[in-house]
Amino acid sequence: MTTAQIDGQLVPFDEALTRYEPVMGLEVHIELNTASKMFCGCATVFGAEPNTQTCPICLGLPGALPVVNEKAIESAIRIGLALNCEIAQWCRFARKNYFYPDQPKNFQTSQYDEPIAFEGWTDVTVDGETYRIEIERAHMEEDTGKSLHVGGSTGRIHGADYSLVDYNRAGIPLIEIVTKVIEVPGDKAPAVARAYVAHLRDLIGGLGVSDVRMDQGSLRCDVNLSLRPIGVKTLGTRSETKNVNSFRSVEQAVRFEVGRHAAVLDAGNKIVQETRHFHEDTGTTSSGREKSDAEDYRYFPEPDLAPVAPSREWVEELRATMPEQPSVRRDRLQADWGFNELDMRDVVGAGALELVVATVEAGASATSAKKWWLTEMARRSNEQGIELAALAITPAQVAEIQSFIDAGRINDKIARQVFDGVLAGEGTPEEVIVARGLELVSDDGALGEAVDRAIEANPDTADKIRGGKQAAAGALIGAVMKDMRGQADAGRVRELILEKLA
Ligand SMILES: [Zn+2]
Repeated sequence: MTTAQIDGQLVPFDEALTRYEPVMGLEVHIELNTASKMFCGCATVFGAEPNTQTCPICLGLPGALPVVNEKAIESAIRIGLALNCEIAQWCRFARKNYFYPDQPKNFQTSQYDEPIAFEGWTDVTVDGETYRIEIERAHMEEDTGKSLHVGGSTGRIHGADYSLVDYNRAGIPLIEIVTKVIEVPGDKAPAVARAYVAHLRDLIGGLGVSDVRMDQGSLRCDVNLSLRPIGVKTLGTRSETKNVNSFRSVEQAVRFEVGRHAAVLDAGNKIVQETRHFHEDTGTTSSGREKSDAEDYRYFPEPDLAPVAPSREWVEELRATMPEQPSVRRDRLQADWGFNELDMRDVVGAGALELVVATVEAGASATSAKKWWLTEMARRSNEQGIELAALAITPAQVAEIQSFIDAGRINDKIARQVFDGVLAGEGTPEEVIVARGLELVSDDGALGEAVDRAIEANPDTADKIRGGKQAAAGALIGAVMKDMRGQADAGRVRELILEKLA
């Protein structure tokens, strides 16, 4: 029986882990955001009219000579440094020979045994546990064009009437980041894979060298996975699930492949070394092509390009301008804000980190910033089905509303109405407060009249307070607040009641 025939059979994930240990390797492609391509001056704008960003070099026409994009080398070095890699003193490009219709040269200019960055590591956190992911290499290469298969239901070549090729993407600089074998507790493997890709998005996004958008393909992940029986050290045969395009899908792909491999191995069959397609709709994978090993690509050094030899001074200059690593920054913010581990995890998990940072920068305390974003704003974003950051209110406005509370102009309860007004497009917090008449009354004249009315309406309560039962004041404060539609300074009301009934 071939793998394809039993693709439908799966061993449940938890059951598979009672007999097998998953071993992963992740390959992530990052498209750089350079203005021009890797080896020519063509533009790299996403979504441009097909085949309008091409030239003889990226179309592989005879006699065209490529030149390396210096900015792409700089970005590659920065990515290498962010991943704690060593940076090569000297390295070359290599030709990776294979035929593919969206690759006009019939070879891809890549790097083989001389990557620009190698031997690094990075840490990811899952459920409060830190896992070190070792990086084997980060190398430079170029992207292929895009094939569009027309007709047929799946958008894949199978069943299509014809195919069109767009070479705009051919030659856009890519960095491929390859991990070493990742061995983590089997039940954590799917979450660690997801966390690693999310971590790369933050880390590399923070460098400003790529848009790192999975939905636009500027960050793509291939998931290599194999199983080995528990207690066995040798690695099993792996499958390579290509171009998994969301964090959730990365997690699902690992989970699915564990169940599929287990079923194949349980039946006494062999895993075929192959690439597989991931299907977003079903969370499953299906067979792609049988994968050749590296030697089949007949790699050889690219004769048309000079070697790349970044000077140590340049590397150190770049190292000196590296932003703080996300995990270091998170630890620093946690300490600055006086948060505990759980507070911080809540903020990060809600996708509110940058919003809280900006709210604090605008003058609010971290505690109040966290409170508003994780309660009132989180509820509203849930109701609207959008991200927190997409809400029609800025961190500066949240900070401003908190400053009004601190100054006693409004209270927490009224702040909710101010949020409503700002989100409904009624204007700035100040304008909403004025237009809706939300300011707290602290003027003694108006408050005193309301207190007199409350005393008159509640003679028994007033007598108790006169008799020394100050705790009874709560009922009168409640009556005044009701009278003033909640817009009274409760502390001042209490003082007035006690003065009048002393
Ligand atoms: Zn070009």
